[in-house]
Amino acid sequence: MSLRIYNTMSRSKEDFIPLNPPKARLYCCGPTVYNYAHIGNLRTYVFEDILRRTLLFNGFEVEHVMNVTDVGHMTTDADEGDDKMQVAAQREGKSPWDIARFYEEAFFHDTARLNIQRPEITPRATEHISEMIETVQKLEENGYTYLTPEAIYFDTSKSEDYGKLARLNLNEQKQGARAEVIMDETKRNPSDFVLWFRNKPTHIMKWESPWGVGYPGWHIECSAMSMKYLGETFDIHCGGVDHIPVHHTNEIVQSECATGHTFVKYWMHGEFLLTNNAKLSKSTGGSINRLQALIDAGYDPLGYRYLCLQAHYRSELNFSVEALEGATAGLRKIYAARPENDPFANNETGYQEARKRVLDVINDDLGTPQAIGILHAYGSHRLWVEFDAILGLDIAKRSQPVEEALSEEVVALIEQRNAARKAKNWAESDALRNQLIALGFEVGDGPQGTTVKRKAL
Ligand code: AMP
Ligand code: ZN
Repeated sequence: MSLRIYNTMSRSKEDFIPLNPPKARLYCCGPTVYNYAHIGNLRTYVFEDILRRTLLFNGFEVEHVMNVTDVGHMTTDADEGDDKMQVAAQREGKSPWDIARFYEEAFFHDTARLNIQRPEITPRATEHISEMIETVQKLEENGYTYLTPEAIYFDTSKSEDYGKLARLNLNEQKQGARAEVIMDETKRNPSDFVLWFRNKPTHIMKWESPWGVGYPGWHIECSAMSMKYLGETFDIHCGGVDHIPVHHTNEIVQSECATGHTFVKYWMHGEFLLTNNAKLSKSTGGSINRLQALIDAGYDPLGYRYLCLQAHYRSELNFSVEALEGATAGLRKIYAARPENDPFANNETGYQEARKRVLDVINDDLGTPQAIGILHAYGSHRLWVEFDAILGLDIAKRSQPVEEALSEEVVALIEQRNAARKAKNWAESDALRNQLIALGFEVGDGPQGTTVKRKAL
């Protein structure tokens, strides 16, 4: 079976057919680096990593871009409030540039500890201002923008299919918006969004532009950077489900109105991680909301990765310490599978059939929970190791049996048995052999005398 993925745009599973095979071009919305990532954010990056590794496993050449948002993401997704970077800079008494670099490094440290492969390209928003300005200029030329003293806006009423991803009903939105406080009274429609904040000389991160000194809106960065590295139309765009109604909706309309053609073929969204059934956010959340907190409490970061894989990416996942402990125990069971006890040791046909069963469920919209179930049922070390290219759980490395030092008691029994055999005292030799077996060893006779090996679990 070929790879099928759920496309949020069509609300259905579709065969994955890339535009330029064997290339698979993938863009994922990256972190806003104003604080540590919480484990909810990290769940989304684990999902995207599984997608990336599944594409690679299927033989695609992956070009994966993930941006780093280091300017312009306001404290709400709808342009209200302040720039998150500037707020963090004030909170920590540092420059927004220092904040950005610090949390960017912390982010990549966390993702590495979760075995999340680094995308080929990780562009920063602040290093692509001219590309953003060019995209806004195209929109201006094409007649989709208007100016207020605050900003240059995208006029959503000019696009007939605005909101197609989220299937938004704009009339309902307009009514709903009456109750909201709108910061900029001159904004024409509630769904219009900022392309460039103008007349902002006091903002710390600011650049010259045709519309005055200011800084970019958040959505424009993803359009400008994804199209720069992947082309005006590319294969897959990912993010968390919260991005469907605003961020991705706006990315689509501004990209398609700038270029005149389809922006992205497949849209994929990861569901949320919940704690106590409440959304985890960087500002709230319980005590374990960072990966480091989980590590400090003695948990294996790969236990958290495994917990994520046990739920389908399109289902909500409730985080709890009990669930994490359950996952960690499951992980230990995987590491205990031994190559010498492989059920497919002399059965290549059986192995290939089993491999196909696992790949089929993974290729059915990344069915990791089902794949894990099948892999546990087979208990084949070789199969676990092969699919670890997708699961990313360090199975080959971690399941090496640790050479254990033999206890004094065992060493003494071995010496006594060697002496008994030399004296041809077979009854004594057999009795000592049984004692070693009772202690959990397999006993053999090598050229140097008695050999022992711990029995497999
Ligand atoms: P941010 O750094 O806030 O821009 O978010 C980074 C990514 O995490 C985005 O793709 C969000 O959609 C995603 N995200 C935010 N909160 C959660 C959550 N509780 N569970 C899963 N993903 C989340
Ligand atoms: Zn984005």
